[in-house]
Amino acid sequence: MQTMLEIKLSKNALKVLEARYLKRDAERRIIETPEELFHLVAGCIAQGEAMWVSPQQIDHWRREYLELMTSLDFLPNSPTLMNAGKPLGQLSACFVLPVEDSMEGIFEAVKQMALVQRTGGGTGFSFSRLRPKGDLVASTSGEASGPVSFMKIFDCATENIKQGGKRRGANMGVLRVDHPDIMEFITAKLDGVTLQNFNISVGATDTFMKALEQDSDYELIHPRTGKCVGRLRANAVFDTIVHAAWRTGDPGLLFLDTINRSNPTPRVGEIEATNPCGEIPLLPYESCNLGSINLSRMIHERQGHPSVDWQKLRATVRKAIRFLDDVIEAGRYPIPEIERMTKSNRKVGLGLMGFAELLIRLGVSYASPEAVTVAENIMRFIDEESLAISQELAAERGVFPNWKGSVYEDRGIQLRNATRTAIAPTGTISIIAGTSAGIEPLFALAYKRSHVLDGQTLYELNPLLLEYLARYGLDTNKIIPEILERGGLKDVDGIPGEIKRLFVTSLEIPFEQHLRIQAAFQRHVDNSVSKTINLPHDTAPSLVAEAYRQAWEMGLKGITIYRYGSKQTQVLELGVGE
Ligand code: ADP
Repeated sequence: MQTMLEIKLSKNALKVLEARYLKRDAERRIIETPEELFHLVAGCIAQGEAMWVSPQQIDHWRREYLELMTSLDFLPNSPTLMNAGKPLGQLSACFVLPVEDSMEGIFEAVKQMALVQRTGGGTGFSFSRLRPKGDLVASTSGEASGPVSFMKIFDCATENIKQGGKRRGANMGVLRVDHPDIMEFITAKLDGVTLQNFNISVGATDTFMKALEQDSDYELIHPRTGKCVGRLRANAVFDTIVHAAWRTGDPGLLFLDTINRSNPTPRVGEIEATNPCGEIPLLPYESCNLGSINLSRMIHERQGHPSVDWQKLRATVRKAIRFLDDVIEAGRYPIPEIERMTKSNRKVGLGLMGFAELLIRLGVSYASPEAVTVAENIMRFIDEESLAISQELAAERGVFPNWKGSVYEDRGIQLRNATRTAIAPTGTISIIAGTSAGIEPLFALAYKRSHVLDGQTLYELNPLLLEYLARYGLDTNKIIPEILERGGLKDVDGIPGEIKRLFVTSLEIPFEQHLRIQAAFQRHVDNSVSKTINLPHDTAPSLVAEAYRQAWEMGLKGITIYRYGSKQTQVLELGVGE
């Protein structure tokens, strides 16, 4: 029997749920309530316990998971919410597929991509194995057309697969910096038309980054023969990368050597690519499911002072990791190779959302050194607790099958999951939870959110700001329209310094601080961190170059920048007064 639940969902959360998640009948009428959705998800995931516990205990976990989600303390990634207990049954957001250097291999990958994308998963590919443009094709004595031209086929296929009628797919395309076609790849998206369903990232090696430091050449390697087929000046390539990123946001960089230094299963394979938003480096055919803890709900007040509720956070991490491990059992997989790889490494990605809101509620400015300390303390704690619960699960259920030969065997740590933590963007689930996205600062205090739901536009004044304005008696008919009009607090008369300090927005924060926050999280995340280094429109290209260099020096696994206004359509726009 279903009990009535009280879920505190905002208007925007309801809009998102209605547009994308709730079940519809043949006439497209919604036939499911949010309560029913969460019941279905909790019941489906708790079935993941079936191999280890009694029916009573399954029911215990069903209730725990229901509470975990309906309290909005934690939400799993969109495919789990959309598909659990429903016919597709595919629950993971992140996939990497191999692309072999043959016609069969390439079109097999296109087909596999289609099978993954129609279930709501995002796909990442390394195209580094493909022979370069102009290379000989033995079977036809013709010339190969090269990675970029084949990427267009993937792009076109994605354009035409709408995920269960819900959203368009997303891809990550990676090419190693030492691939002979690297220059064509870097500039591939400059026309604003090509590869629009791809995020692209250059696979930067340490060799390349060192050549850059020393202003020297580096070798281009033929992917089939492994031989050097040319040389490029690292600085010239880097300059092209920086200018393209400055103009369009693409390409980002993935630091492949840094990524592989923390590959938990190096003997199973080398990591060449990530999922679309970069937070999960994966081996070919691996998938990973994500979940995020809502930090804005991990706060308590003691004698009027807000602080992090560590006890609640611990309990939430423990349940969340168990939930994500159960997702691996409860899910269905689009192709057998993915099921095999995923169940061999059992990677999960627990992260968080609402970091900016947490800081505001603690009275800490995102732009201050204290914010870096909070980031570090929170993530260290989540990392340690995740490790502990994954060890307990290993004792109950066994280690992940590829554990033998993994870095954890070398260290003598028995674990259920090859990875446990990641910071996802939480683009949609943070709207459902009604908090700030991932670890990002507030983007704007008043904004128009377009393209998130096909064709719909949402207007918002940040509710947290409203709350603070009310505290100061400033939620007036004069001030609110002014903030909406300007898209922020700048130049609005009568706003106290404290509010301006706490409600600092993304474009006002120097790039170094964005990087420090990303690095603080990365130090305690075993996968990777999705973060956009948002830059004002008038940023110089030299600053982008500086950010990319520093990212490598700081040990980040990747970097993505976005200069405001550099794409014709962007998800977030400042102000609503235009
Ligand atoms: P959500 O909030 O919907 O759970 P996120 O914004 O946190 O999703 O993104 C997490 C991951 O989900 C991305 O890195 C990507 O792998 C996948 N993803 C997000 N949006 C899409 C999309 N439109 N199509 C395919 N995959 C997506």
